[in-house]
Amino acid sequence: MPANMPAGSPINLLGLGRAELTSFCANLGENPPRRFRAKQLLHWMHQAGAADFGVMTDISKPLRDRLALDATIAGPSVMRDTTAADGTRKWLLDVGTGNAVETVFIPETSRGTLCVSSQAGCALECSFCATGRQGFSRNLTAAEIIGQLWWANKCLGAYDAANNKGEARVISNIVMMGMGEPLANFDHVVAAMRLMLDDDAYGLSRRRVTLSTSGLVPALDRLREACPVALAVSLHAPNDTLRNELVPINKKYPIRELLAACVRYLDKAPRDFVMFEYTLLDGVNDSVAQACELVETVKSVPCKINLIPFNPFEGSGYARSKPDVVARFQEVLLRAGLVATTRKTRGDDIAAACGQLAGQVADKTRRAERRLARIPVVETAAVTSAARAI
Ligand code: SAH
Ligand code: SF4
Repeated sequence: MPANMPAGSPINLLGLGRAELTSFCANLGENPPRRFRAKQLLHWMHQAGAADFGVMTDISKPLRDRLALDATIAGPSVMRDTTAADGTRKWLLDVGTGNAVETVFIPETSRGTLCVSSQAGCALECSFCATGRQGFSRNLTAAEIIGQLWWANKCLGAYDAANNKGEARVISNIVMMGMGEPLANFDHVVAAMRLMLDDDAYGLSRRRVTLSTSGLVPALDRLREACPVALAVSLHAPNDTLRNELVPINKKYPIRELLAACVRYLDKAPRDFVMFEYTLLDGVNDSVAQACELVETVKSVPCKINLIPFNPFEGSGYARSKPDVVARFQEVLLRAGLVATTRKTRGDDIAAACGQLAGQVADKTRRAERRLARIPVVETAAVTSAARAI
């Protein structure tokens, strides 16, 4: 049964944290030690990858039978599993009512990173993002979010390795950088991240779980208290005029307020810097003058800058900056004493790179139709790009 079960079906234990599992056991009439039962359930589901109660041999048979009646362990329903030439792997997951989201695994020599989605679509409409172009359908549940890690671990053989003991973690890092704005689905994302961090579940350190946000300031302040993990912020422009255009949420939370929230966040963060993401768009935000302005803009925040080559998608209207322009932009930042890296594009032959995740979204906002109505037919990608370059 998929993670997106209708109400009234057995409760899906996959998305429950320690406290909720404890009260679930109490509601079953289970005698103390209920907390120990919760711990056992966490172990079986998240460390052994159990998908049914029958295998839970250290739980009594009557309780296992009772669990099988009242509950389920429902992972995602997988529509497609694709591997790119560079080993990047992408799963398309059905989340019901015509929606599908994507999860991407990026293997590297010394680590394996899983890029996790938090929403079907996104309401924030960043102009250069394939997910934003689709509009918003719905928030994923905690079970659907943690289910992506559970499923990827299963496919990548991590649970077998755990049984054989001593193997390095297959998934060593998580980035909340898939489809959707994680802070717009705050409660479910925090619940899922707490499972990622829980020693009886995935046991990842806070430094290895990164949340990327386009800058929802009040939610960022809440995250600092609720679950401070490593932080990435989608900046993409050195000033409000341009950021208003690229990341429209900037009109509500302008750069100055966002940067102040970043400084507050660092009080509790597991790392002593914020990672600013800056997608380089040909002729839009990649000039030397803009690099100099960026240096000034971020100077109040301990940070690193991650320059992301734009990943094109059909009808985006943008183009990737030329390599020499990227190098020149990076050089300005480095000379100013900033740490600036250029992200290597991974999995672009299977459209698994940053901002290309589209899945399938039944846009509840009908944004796509409204946009089509607004855009004149002659405005092709090339025309738009050229116009922006002027
Ligand atoms: N909603 C979150 C996380 C998801 S996007 C956020 O906006 O931060 C992860 C990163 O990819 C963000 O920095 C986003 O701005 C960037 N991105 C979006 N579309 C892109 C594209 N087409 N090419 C390159 N980066 C893109
Ligand atoms: Fe949403 Fe992030 Fe894409 Fe913006 S970049 S539309 S916030 S997913």
